[in-house]
Amino acid sequence: MSGEGLTVRDLRVTFDGFTAVDGVDLDIRPGDLRFLIGPNGAGKTTLVDAVTGLVKATGSVRFGDQDLLGKPVQKIARLGIGRTFQTATVFEELTVLQNLDIAAGAGRGVWTMLRRRKDIPEPVAKALETTGLTELRDRPAGVLAHGQKQWLEIGMLLVQDVKLLLLDEPVAGMSHDEREATGELLQRVSEDHTVVVIEHDMDFMRSFARSVSVLHVGKVLSEGSVAEVQADPRVQEVYLGR
Ligand code: ADP
Repeated sequence: MSGEGLTVRDLRVTFDGFTAVDGVDLDIRPGDLRFLIGPNGAGKTTLVDAVTGLVKATGSVRFGDQDLLGKPVQKIARLGIGRTFQTATVFEELTVLQNLDIAAGAGRGVWTMLRRRKDIPEPVAKALETTGLTELRDRPAGVLAHGQKQWLEIGMLLVQDVKLLLLDEPVAGMSHDEREATGELLQRVSEDHTVVVIEHDMDFMRSFARSVSVLHVGKVLSEGSVAEVQADPRVQEVYLGR
């Protein structure tokens, strides 16, 4: 498995006459680790909101053989699209393992999810290993470091069998070491998932992106490898301020 690709065509989102996403095309291949960068207000979050069904949009968004536009949020999530926001939303009182159990069992009875198990289900064990949280599995999530909570949240998507992860500034507020560990985690995850990262941290992007789309005033200004995007004079002018 290498995730599922995302194809966006002529995507437009308008708020009261203001066009926040203005005819965006994107081709994100299965297994890509795509960074969406661009100045504040460029339309990155709104684009991801449109893909996940949170805001209305026109154009088309295809995920595998499914058309996403017009589908409700829950239905889009069930197709295998997982999203994180800047603030991690984990159950602080519950252990790391219980958080993963709940995510894995979403839709099942709560007692099934919370019962004490001897055997850790295989997808949960794999998510613990991928996120590096195995040793911390019996700790309450509330005592985890900021970075570890973000990793747990990614783990909670992995156990739901998502194919595409959309992550909103996953390294915001992280230490240098946490950022490095997160980049390595995303590279591992992208071996069998498609990953899209909204990011402001240029060093992080340079180190870990497999491909980059630069957004500016609701449009894709530039796209390609890190080297291609950095060498693009339009990007240097509007984004890097040179
Ligand atoms: P980015 O994530 O790149 O910083 P956003 O997608 O958050 O940009 O915002 C793009 C533009 O759309 C901004 O000008 C923002 O003010 C506007 N915008 C976003 N959400 C709304 C909304 N719900 N109502 C009106 N304007 C919005």
